[in-house]
Amino acid sequence: MTEELPRKRPLLSLKNPPKPKVKPTLRWKCKPCGGIVVLTGKETEPEVIRCPACNARLGKAGQFLSDPPDVDHIRARKFTE
Ligand SMILES: [Zn+2]
Repeated sequence: MTEELPRKRPLLSLKNPPKPKVKPTLRWKCKPCGGIVVLTGKETEPEVIRCPACNARLGKAGQFLSDPPDVDHIRARKFTE
């Protein structure tokens, strides 16, 4: 006699498919020095974003990655090519 454990198959629920997320702006321009700041989008919300060029605190990752970004409270502007 062999005992087999009943296998539970993970069921994929498609009742509430996730909505496609708007891509957050990942390229920013530091207001103090004009340096380019590139985010990965994987930063955690309380993470402080600093300018790689002048090391200024520009704001928290959550403010950059929210939709829309909290541009009134971060020291950076959207980088447009
Ligand atoms: Zn800077």
